[in-house]
Amino acid sequence: MSESVAKSGHPKGLWVLFGTEMWERFNFYGMRAILTLFLVNSLMMKEEDASLIYGGFLGLCYLTPMLGGFISDRFFGNRNCILLGGLMMAIGQFLLFISASVFGNNISLATILMWSALGIIVFGNGFFKPNISSMVGSLYPKQEKSKLDTAFTIFYMGINLGAFLGQLICPIVGDVKVDGIRDIHAFKWGFLAASVAMLIGTVVFYVLKDKYVVTPEGKELGGLPSKNDTSDYEEGESQKAVFSKNALIGAVVAFIGLGLMFHYVVGQNFIYSLIYASGLSLAGLIISDTSLTKVERDRILVIYIVAFFVIFFWAAFEQAGSSLTFIADNQTDRNFFGYNMPPSMVQIFNGLFVVAFAVPFSMLWDYLRSKDREPISPVKQAVGLGLIALSYFIIAYNVKDLGNDGFLAIKWLILLYLIQTCAELCLSPIGLSLVGKLSPKRFSSLLYGVFFLSNASGYALAGTLGSILPATGDKFNKAKELGIDLQAVLDKTVTLTAEQVALLEQNQISTSNP
Ligand code: GLN
Repeated sequence: MSESVAKSGHPKGLWVLFGTEMWERFNFYGMRAILTLFLVNSLMMKEEDASLIYGGFLGLCYLTPMLGGFISDRFFGNRNCILLGGLMMAIGQFLLFISASVFGNNISLATILMWSALGIIVFGNGFFKPNISSMVGSLYPKQEKSKLDTAFTIFYMGINLGAFLGQLICPIVGDVKVDGIRDIHAFKWGFLAASVAMLIGTVVFYVLKDKYVVTPEGKELGGLPSKNDTSDYEEGESQKAVFSKNALIGAVVAFIGLGLMFHYVVGQNFIYSLIYASGLSLAGLIISDTSLTKVERDRILVIYIVAFFVIFFWAAFEQAGSSLTFIADNQTDRNFFGYNMPPSMVQIFNGLFVVAFAVPFSMLWDYLRSKDREPISPVKQAVGLGLIALSYFIIAYNVKDLGNDGFLAIKWLILLYLIQTCAELCLSPIGLSLVGKLSPKRFSSLLYGVFFLSNASGYALAGTLGSILPATGDKFNKAKELGIDLQAVLDKTVTLTAEQVALLEQNQISTSNP
């Protein structure tokens, strides 16, 4: 056995990538847990706007991997992109830490810092995410590709172990209530923890990559791209997607037209329109390529059908960091075996359940395969969609009589995350490997791009859905409970009495626009 292969039969490099991704997901999901609460409570935004920003941010995180993948293929290589992306995300989180430290003195500066931080994280994620996933694939030479399913299951556990830790630590230090009153200055510690986690991940990768992230012969993997690397292609297979000039012009025109339509006709904001238009025009560009054979085109159509349904899955799933967190914050009895959970921590059950069930699920598929009864991928996907719908029916049934003052028992949210995790395990890893199996190689990265863009569209839709939930916890609603129409105050159409000003101050409600 070569030195780079561990006893498990998997290359040691897999564990380096596992660790790096774990810290990265700690940073990502840890900050995701507290982001909307920070926007609403410290930067004084409406819940509705926080949901829209959250959806746009997540959506862009899945748009930029196209760029990160392209830059890595052409110029920098996987390794450098992972390091660059990791550093950018650590810096972004640090800027959020500063934003959450200064908002009390200067809310405009804090808001600018928040926007810059989210922008940097979006690009950092774009460099990091596609490159680390593709390195997992490249650790295995052609004759060992059969180990890939297990490798990705292990990797997916790394992702969720990181999510679990992030959603544990960041809420503990950042989402703090004293005597029921939120400490709106504590969020900064959550962002700092996320920044430190990302830095640890980057350093781990930097230190270990040369020793372990290598081929069985000890050659460096994921270095600068070599122009003539054809090792992964079948003989005679066309290696590059070359689009005609007309097709490219058509795609650009479609992109602009669709973007304008989504913005002006459907009424979507700029970012959401950008995401939807990018996905559709890229999908159109690929399917109209004249080099495709009938079989290739049919396979791509299958990918598109799956990608379409995946949009609705993530739109439902990603309520975790917005509407479900707001419900956990405002209307949930979060007593969990005597521990009063911070609202942002309730999402932790997803990561926890994935870590617990990823292996049993893959054993279940193996078992069914051995009996020749494994469901085909689209059936697994349909089960995933059905389950996520079920999870919301259960919650809808339980909140229907809550009104404005009732409380939901935390067990219902835990059950929701349990069912959603089973749905995720039926749909998410399977979708990714389906794209890998069905894509003609010359279009494989671009089709992954389309797939990620369908995730991005799901996140944008998640933002829109989250924003229609009636808000209960933002300052506008809190003011309403005190009998004050805050919007009218901001619009200067009413003036407050001294008593009302005191009342607002007492409840930490500021009367300035962020
Ligand atoms: N939870 C997984 C991750 O963070 C999958 C997310 C997705 O594919 N949209 O990587």
